[in-house]
Amino acid sequence: MDSQGEYQNVVIVGAGICGLATALGLHRKRIRCLVLEKAASMRTEGSGIDIFANGWRALDQLRVGTELRTKSIAVTEIHEQWLEENRMRVFPCSNVEVRCVRRKDLIEILANNLPANTLRFNCQITAISTDPATSFPVLHTSDGMVIKAKWFSLLQIVIGCDGLNSIVAKSLGLVMPKSFPTWVLRGFTPYPDGHSFGTFFYRIRNKHLFLGRVPVDDRLVHWFIAPMNPFKDLNDLKDPKLIRDFAVELLQKFPSEVIEMVKASDLSSISLRYISYRPPWQLMLNDLWRGTMVLAGDAMHVMGPFLGQGGCASIEDGVVLARCISQKLPADSECTVISDKELHERIEAALSDYVKERKLRVIGLSTNSYLIGSITGTSSWVKKLLCIIILVLFFKDSPLCHSDYDCGKL
Ligand SMILES: Cc1cc2nc3c(=O)[nH]c(=O)nc-3n(C[C@H](O)[C@H](O)[C@H](O)COP(=O)(O)OP(=O)(O)OC[C@H]3O[C@@H](n4cnc5c(N)ncnc54)[C@H](O)[C@@H]3O)c2cc1C
Repeated sequence: MDSQGEYQNVVIVGAGICGLATALGLHRKRIRCLVLEKAASMRTEGSGIDIFANGWRALDQLRVGTELRTKSIAVTEIHEQWLEENRMRVFPCSNVEVRCVRRKDLIEILANNLPANTLRFNCQITAISTDPATSFPVLHTSDGMVIKAKWFSLLQIVIGCDGLNSIVAKSLGLVMPKSFPTWVLRGFTPYPDGHSFGTFFYRIRNKHLFLGRVPVDDRLVHWFIAPMNPFKDLNDLKDPKLIRDFAVELLQKFPSEVIEMVKASDLSSISLRYISYRPPWQLMLNDLWRGTMVLAGDAMHVMGPFLGQGGCASIEDGVVLARCISQKLPADSECTVISDKELHERIEAALSDYVKERKLRVIGLSTNSYLIGSITGTSSWVKKLLCIIILVLFFKDSPLCHSDYDCGKL
């Protein structure tokens, strides 16, 4: 399958934010890898993604932060407003970098910094087995190809960055993520002559609905809407125009400027997503790596978007994983003399270090996000109250609390 002489140490399944960030981290460490993606091309659809200070630190380690910053403006304050109570809270972002970027820009910048031939499209992994001779994983693709260690090259590590329905997570014994009875609807609104929303991330809510609006640059804003309570199934709603009309209808009691913003949104950017999550206890109780296979990004810790941290944490994963692997992989000169057994031990040590380092961090994020999702996803006041109490006791009441984290040097 690989061209003769090509030397693969690492295969990444999935070319989303995490797969690309991990590949770039490894590339910066001069470790070659191959990213297998089931789609026919780079998935650049979707609207905006908020990146908080922790995500920017990780992007700077990958040496793409500076380029990505040119595509967005910095948020200077977060304004939270409660409509019924006519209450407003302001969080200054003077020491905390927050920006909303187009998902497309993030994906393209990560991908464009990878060496040629790192990405292979139309390559869906359908099963994973173990080579009895080497104990390395064997990957089976939908078109009948088998990718195995020492056959065409040295395939030693398989990193599952394959998102929500991860086949790598399944082969590690994790059960499928769950869903909250809730959704997020989002899109972009262009303002060709410039908008008047300044540099504020505006979050406004009443007891039924939550709306967020954040500028990407002077002429584009990203917005999202989510219900504050369990909501009927909207599976029939597929047409972007109907989705937009539905959003406008829901916003009746909101200020006219946000209604006008949604009305003027770009239909091609509108998306409606149901909220999936891996419960924190699955992260606590399951093996997130085994042998030379490991999970990263949503495949490991898919969480509701309430904190805007799923993507940021996926970039952190990429940095930490690349660092741990590079610390343990043999130098080129050692490769020919090192035994399979020793190679195995070194890889296992690297993956064990990575999981140890990431576990607490992602359990914290996913627990916080799970509690918020449970508050909006249940109609039981007892459950709501219990979740609020745990939130108040264990987590800071600030939209910026998780961004004060540094995943360290690459
Ligand atoms: C509504 C919403 C809003 C969000 N907002 C934010 C935000 O503001 N900030 C933030 O940080 N995060 C946010 N997130 C979370 C963030 O989008 C995700 O955490 C992030 O995209 C995960 O990236 P990933 O690469 O792990 O997974 P994915 O993006 O799902 O990528 C997985 C890739 O693997 C491929 N793949 C899957 N199976 C296979 C297979 N068997 N073989 C080969 N390829 C395969 C897929 O095609 C895909 O390209 C939000 C999420 C949602 C749903």
